[in-house]
Amino acid sequence: MVMTKTELYGLFGNPVAHSLSPLMHNCAFREMKLDAIYVPFLVEDLEGAVCALRALNIRGVSVTIPFKTAVLPLLDEVDDSARAIGAVNTILNRDGKLRGFNTDWVGLAGCLGEAIEIRGRTFAIIGAGGAARAAVFGILEKGGRPIVMNRTVEKGEALGREFGCSFRPLNDISTIEADGLINTTPVGMTPDEAKTPVRRGDLSRFRIVMDVIYNPLGTRLLREAAEAGCRVVDGLGMFVRQGAEQIRIWMGREPPVSLMHQIVRRQLENKKKGVEDSRVQGAE
Ligand code: NAP
Repeated sequence: MVMTKTELYGLFGNPVAHSLSPLMHNCAFREMKLDAIYVPFLVEDLEGAVCALRALNIRGVSVTIPFKTAVLPLLDEVDDSARAIGAVNTILNRDGKLRGFNTDWVGLAGCLGEAIEIRGRTFAIIGAGGAARAAVFGILEKGGRPIVMNRTVEKGEALGREFGCSFRPLNDISTIEADGLINTTPVGMTPDEAKTPVRRGDLSRFRIVMDVIYNPLGTRLLREAAEAGCRVVDGLGMFVRQGAEQIRIWMGREPPVSLMHQIVRRQLENKKKGVEDSRVQGAE
């Protein structure tokens, strides 16, 4: 038998079947000429899965729904930003020592910051879940002012209090004063593409509207925001940037970000058309 030195990486989540992370990471590894593979693991037992990281010498994993918070106490160390956000989406296994990171905020602040200067600007953030926490943290880190807006008032108020920023009920959206609007709820995500978290008539006062959803790429919110004259940012850039940052953490090397972007965009577009792209499939 030929022994390989192939390094194993993966995704912990439940469900994982629809994740685009394996496609994105395996394409990046191949482009970087790394002897490494990224595998989705459907996790039923999180503690067992974390033990398996050490037992099987899995070098790193992404962590997704529903384990981003539950995994924190199972790790040896948690990075300051992941601790503040209260969620880990990346684990690095260095010689059996497990360290947790959060790259969602890097992805969000990175692509938002490319579209608009965050410092000194106000952003209304809809939602109070994991993605909202990453958004609040990222905007504060970059010198911006987040305003949390959430359907469930108690949850939104608690998030605002925790990060020292203001909270307004979601119903106040038609009177809010902010430069930008960020949707961090799943409203409008496939298969509920006809839904939108904000009425069309409330969009024109925002200079920029970002949706963290990337499936579909052009959500109803973004279509209507563009029609209202706002600059729009979809969730694909955030997804690719959070994945690129994972590769930097795992390998200490610069990933092929534009290729990753291209490959995921193509897969999403093909999925939309309902067409199998044999070149992309072949690359998996
Ligand atoms: P989560 O923790 O479950 O939080 C969801 C939030 O959305 C909650 O605050 C919830 O409000 C709100 N919400 C849900 N349905 C709503 C509705 N019908 N009307 C108003 N508010 C509603 O979820 P998450 O982990 O933050 O993920 C949210 C979205 O972000 C998902 O679509 C996910 O795919 C996306 N995401 C994208 C990236 C990326 O890289 N682009 C990264 C992470 C997440 P209540 O508090 O009232 O229940």
